Amino acid sequence: MSRHADEPPEGGAPPSWHPDTVAVRASVPRTPYGEHSEALFLSSSFVQHDARSAAARFAGDEDGFIYSRFSNPSVAAMETRLAALEGAQAALATASGMGAITLLMLGLLQAGDHVVCSRSVFGSTIKLLGDIFGKFGVETSFVSQTDVREWKAAMRPGRTRLLFAETPSNPLTEVCDIAALAALAHDGGALLVVDNCFCSPALQRPLDFGADIVMHSGTKFLDGQGRTLAGALCGTRELIEGKLLPVQRSAGISLSPFNAWVVHKGMETLALRVREQSARALELALWLEQQPAVARVYYPGLVSHPQHALAMAQQSGQGGAVLSFDLGADGPEQARERAFALIDATRLCSITANFGDTRTTITHPASTSHGRLSEAQRQAAGIGQGLIRIGVGLEHPSDLQADLAPGLRAAGA
Ligand SMILES: *Cc1c(COP(=O)(O)O)cnc(C)c1O
Repeated sequence: MSRHADEPPEGGAPPSWHPDTVAVRASVPRTPYGEHSEALFLSSSFVQHDARSAAARFAGDEDGFIYSRFSNPSVAAMETRLAALEGAQAALATASGMGAITLLMLGLLQAGDHVVCSRSVFGSTIKLLGDIFGKFGVETSFVSQTDVREWKAAMRPGRTRLLFAETPSNPLTEVCDIAALAALAHDGGALLVVDNCFCSPALQRPLDFGADIVMHSGTKFLDGQGRTLAGALCGTRELIEGKLLPVQRSAGISLSPFNAWVVHKGMETLALRVREQSARALELALWLEQQPAVARVYYPGLVSHPQHALAMAQQSGQGGAVLSFDLGADGPEQARERAFALIDATRLCSITANFGDTRTTITHPASTSHGRLSEAQRQAAGIGQGLIRIGVGLEHPSDLQADLAPGLRAAGA
């Protein structure tokens, strides 16, 4: 039988495909049943033809599914699609974004190794690298998000193995220069890892700028509808299959097939959602800049953003769907009161820690995502009590403005 034109090719996507095509077509081959929507393989293990083939598969001499801690067709489908979207040779899915960073550290580092990481990365990443891996003798230096000289000065010859960046940062949307950090890492014999949660491959492909590994929380834009936790690492076959997969088999930070299937289907609309949410975020950011109660808006799509030009070059000309703003106030107590009052005055925005959802979310970073940091760490990260973060969804911008307006009027009074 001839292959039907829309049947996915073995192993993902031909290089000629546009990312829009990759997003809906890169997958694993169909089963003999010919399902159009990818099947969900809720199976913890896979039946082997005979004892000889079981032995060959366990020894790695023959390809095939064995056990879902190692691999599973639904998980492989999601990995195939994500790798193709990031322009990577391979991807490895994990139970969550933090699980991906844990696996990365377990797979690539040992006691005595050193990591340089931006001080503005996700709060749990700071805890994981600084405190938890610190206990096992892996030391991390935290440096400025934007000053490449600080990264360079922190590197220790022969010991620095990883540079870890997240861009734009949460919640201040500071942008780091991926190409400059990649060059620095490679000069020092280290690898550059980029947490690409905020942009997703729809806007930013760190490997194109020289990064070695892309880390994802599938919980954010990849699923895009706030339904599930997931994570992934993307990179060369040598790194993913040679170094990280063997550790995953023992460490078991595996993604459930169901969650993989949800994320796999979510990626079909990734680019449409992210481009549209980004356009709506820009509209909201421009409007917020004009509100008297707002002291400052943090959004890479604004000309007023300090790394606006870099962001536009690195992020396909878009700012992303997350923005923050500071309410003017006399001191931290008043700032916090105003921020809480504004958040509580909204009806449409959801008060919830996630972003990358089709529904707009609103948070107070200083008391939530960054609440576990010490006051000194928070100040170093520039997270004030008057700061509010918005993860812009797909509601109409006029409804979002109407939702924020009463709180802004009260804060400005
Ligand atoms: C959410 C998030 C993570 C962690 O992902 P989980 O799936 O929640 O474990 C890491 N980095 C960034 C930038 C995030 O937004």
